[in-house]
Amino acid sequence: MPPRNSPLFHRVLLPALCSSTIVATLAVGEARQNVVRTADPVKRGLTTSDFPRTVKVTDNVYTYEDFHAGDEKFTTTNLFVVTDAGVLVADGQGDPAATKGLVDAIARVTPKPIKYVVICSDHGDHTGGNASFPAGITYLVHPTSKAILERQAASGRGAAGWTLPPDAVVVPEKKAITLGSEELQVIFLGRAHTGGDLSVYLPRQKILFMSEIFLNRVFPAMRSAYPSDWLRTLTRAEQMDVRIYVPGHGFTEQAAVSNEELRAYHKALDAVVAEATRLYKAGVPVDNAITQADFGEYAAWTLSQSQGPIAIRKVYEELSGALK
Ligand SMILES: [Zn+2]
Repeated sequence: MPPRNSPLFHRVLLPALCSSTIVATLAVGEARQNVVRTADPVKRGLTTSDFPRTVKVTDNVYTYEDFHAGDEKFTTTNLFVVTDAGVLVADGQGDPAATKGLVDAIARVTPKPIKYVVICSDHGDHTGGNASFPAGITYLVHPTSKAILERQAASGRGAAGWTLPPDAVVVPEKKAITLGSEELQVIFLGRAHTGGDLSVYLPRQKILFMSEIFLNRVFPAMRSAYPSDWLRTLTRAEQMDVRIYVPGHGFTEQAAVSNEELRAYHKALDAVVAEATRLYKAGVPVDNAITQADFGEYAAWTLSQSQGPIAIRKVYEELSGALK
């Protein structure tokens, strides 16, 4: 039998062994140097048929990884916490069928009902499937994201068949939730990828779900970002007492790797901002900057082709004072 942490085990043996409830267990014992640092499932030793999948992070904490829409394959990652009083979910998938997959995966783990859904990223690839969450749950959302979602709904660009319920709990800074025996914190660490970025912190287990503040080996995506705020927000996350950082895109990592990858992501964001700043200060017009930009090793990261130009424009916007 191949070792538990080998791709072969996960691909071939594990699904047969455990009746498809959990298809992957976080390989806690796996040597750090054996983890392939990428968002690309194929380079990681997986195949597209391995997804969607549920990853057991600890006793009662799971992530759910399904593919983001588009040709370039990488995962959109959600977190769910199972307690004896119900389930808290952080983020959904991008369309109702995909989020139904998440809801069904939770039901295979526990008969307990979903009580809370935290909208950590208001973007469509994390909220577009919200119609598949059961009625009667409580949503938590940052005021910035609430305003964005309401604007989208009013203009007909919102999630299919779903609008944010009027009783959604607004979290400007921090909200503590006790669910069964679990203490959870919903925290705003500062603006980052959307402006209303929320994180979910489990103090007992020292797990921080960061949603799109942390894009594991995915090129810094800045369409609606606040570049320098994002860097400060990452520093705040790094200063917290965290064992496992969970990204909103890319793979769920074991503790040591997650710490390294969060810092690798911070370095990538730093490098992208520095390159755009260099071009801006040299007086290079933005359209030329897009073709001249040298992102070094980050040019090989997932989405660099599409997100590189967007990042240059966003940093120029901030440096010119147009981004408030
Ligand atoms: Zn996203």
